[in-house]
Amino acid sequence: MPLETDTPPPVASKLAELQRLLGEVSDLGRSAALLAWDERTMMPPGGAQARAEQLSTLARVAHERFTSNEVGRALDGLREWAESHPYESDEASLVRVAWRDWEKARRVPAELRAEMTHAASLGQQAWEGARAESDFTAFLPFLERNIELRRRYISCFEGFDHPYDPLLDDFEPEAKTAEVGVVLSELRDGLRPLVSGIAAAGDIVDSSCLHGEVPLAEQRELGRRLVAGLPIDDDEWRLDSTVHPFAISISPSDIRLTTRYEENYIGTAIWSVIHEAGHGIYENGLPNEHRRNPLCDPVSLGFHESQSRMWENWVGRGRPYLRSILPLLRDAAPTQFANVDAEQLYRAANRVEPSLIRVEADEVTYNLHVAMRFELEVEIFEDQLSPADLPEAWNARVEDYLGLEVPDDASGVLQDVHWAGGSFGYFPTYSLGNVIAAQLWERILGEIPDLESLIAAGELVPLRDWLRENLHAYGARFTPPEMIERLTGGGLDVAPLLDQLSAKYGELYGLDR
Ligand code: ZN
Repeated sequence: MPLETDTPPPVASKLAELQRLLGEVSDLGRSAALLAWDERTMMPPGGAQARAEQLSTLARVAHERFTSNEVGRALDGLREWAESHPYESDEASLVRVAWRDWEKARRVPAELRAEMTHAASLGQQAWEGARAESDFTAFLPFLERNIELRRRYISCFEGFDHPYDPLLDDFEPEAKTAEVGVVLSELRDGLRPLVSGIAAAGDIVDSSCLHGEVPLAEQRELGRRLVAGLPIDDDEWRLDSTVHPFAISISPSDIRLTTRYEENYIGTAIWSVIHEAGHGIYENGLPNEHRRNPLCDPVSLGFHESQSRMWENWVGRGRPYLRSILPLLRDAAPTQFANVDAEQLYRAANRVEPSLIRVEADEVTYNLHVAMRFELEVEIFEDQLSPADLPEAWNARVEDYLGLEVPDDASGVLQDVHWAGGSFGYFPTYSLGNVIAAQLWERILGEIPDLESLIAAGELVPLRDWLRENLHAYGARFTPPEMIERLTGGGLDVAPLLDQLSAKYGELYGLDR
């Protein structure tokens, strides 16, 4: 019997070789993910040093394997064959995506990569101490080192329009600084009048039902019941406690969700859980048949965040969903919710208040936090802003955008871990996620007109299936610009997000639109 009718034997063996090589790299990466999950959920503190060594070895071996000449030869030998297949096909996509990743990874010398990892680890340790003491000066040398290494990283690439492009590309492939800059400034300028309008309306939204002591055991049970009600396949997830919540997948059918709980605020147990479950639903829908090659990756971090935000905010803070979970909340916290109706819960879930801390920000002001971080990063890499002047620049922007005075650097420039770990180019993906979620929501409402009543009835599978069919199942087959084009027929557009936020909060705060 012939091997396959349309795949000649030499191609079949080259393909098997490529899949073997990529499969090993993937196994190493997934194993590292499991160790990282364990480090942040289960590991006793005494394991820290050995775990750092184990993770660093796995990362180094995976990188060496992937960037080897062997992978390059296997890819090269298949390019002509791949290009003879349609662009969307498994064959063409596998070779195209793996080639792009391989070519990019090869440009960065192993030594520079090791230096960046090392500096990131030192930077994070220094940052923890500096933040606790609110001492920016102690952190500054580590920040400067991270920036210097990123400049060397940028110099590994050529043909970009802006020095920030290669940084952005790590999280949002093919995104351009100029385009993202336009999106974020349109968003910022569109949101500022809404934020002022809400401030002028006064503190008219009562969120007291979310505050008050709820035993952690009850909150954990609530978290578990919330995830169980969301459309992640049974037996394919678990939920554990951590300090900084995240979601990670060991494979599309092994999703690890984490959350934290606050004794006096049940909101974290609700929306942080739904947010991470949104990331998990995306990972759960990635093409399992490609789980050992790069086609099983998400499109980008922006797309990932579009999924978590959609479940957290569009579904999780909407009237139909909140009505459906009110009985669960009454079980978990009878005192707080016994006399609260769905409308009161909706209002509490959507209270807007400018705050100093990004991770505590509401849906409206959140994007202003992101816009200012992006602007500061770009100014640093354009050599317009010296790292030493960051606190001053930070505080001025918080005052300008949010009308708040920053009392100390711990609640200002030192609040996020990203720069300590050298992750420049990451922040904008949070807002891109919101923009994409709004664009998708508009289209989904057009295609599932009874979505709201389905959600109210607890029927979330139709939404999940739409997302799977149109986005998740493609994995990393398309770049972010290609995916946006496929999903919306155009490019990134802030109008749907601005319209949806203005409508929702205009009604809540009684604003004259
Ligand atoms: Zn997220």
